[in-house]
Amino acid sequence: MGGRSQAMKHIPEINHCLPNAKAYWCSKCKAHNPYTYSTSETGDSHRDKIVLQKFGCSGCHGHMFHPAETTPWMYGLVAFTFLMIILSFYISDNPHVLSGGEFGDTDGLIYCMLGLGTFSGLIGGMMVFHMRKWVGWSWAQRLKSAAQLEEDSLNHPVQSQYEESEDFVLWAKQFLSPDEVNALKEKYGTQQED
Ligand SMILES: [Zn+2]
Repeated sequence: MGGRSQAMKHIPEINHCLPNAKAYWCSKCKAHNPYTYSTSETGDSHRDKIVLQKFGCSGCHGHMFHPAETTPWMYGLVAFTFLMIILSFYISDNPHVLSGGEFGDTDGLIYCMLGLGTFSGLIGGMMVFHMRKWVGWSWAQRLKSAAQLEEDSLNHPVQSQYEESEDFVLWAKQFLSPDEVNALKEKYGTQQED
């Protein structure tokens, strides 16, 4: 509803319903929607400053995720979680392996490892949750014909439109070469009306 009367600058060059593991994807909207890139900082001193990046979906404003970049982290975190669990069981069964070492307090070490394991397990689990949605969606999309994908793109509630912004260029470069992105600018950027 609404907005349809506006001149839509739909970009046929980029189909946001075509799976691309190297592009940010929204698991809620099920598309490679355009995003707004932003950063936020935590910590006050220069040393423990952490810059958090956010790729906010233009459809639902939620975090988008990058399948190709997430995969190694997901495996790493899940493996780390299992390692922590196995190690803490091993140490609690064999406390002598650490005796005489610098770890006087085995219980403290076990709690610490279980804490780390829980933390990595939660993040890894969230990644698995999104990844399962991605795998399901991308397989379903791959079975569709080019015409069906085109239709999906046109019927999607979020439409990719040309925009004169850094975020748009960043988004478009996920799918196109820099030259092709420049071509988009020439095609859609200068003209106001069709
Ligand atoms: Zn979304």
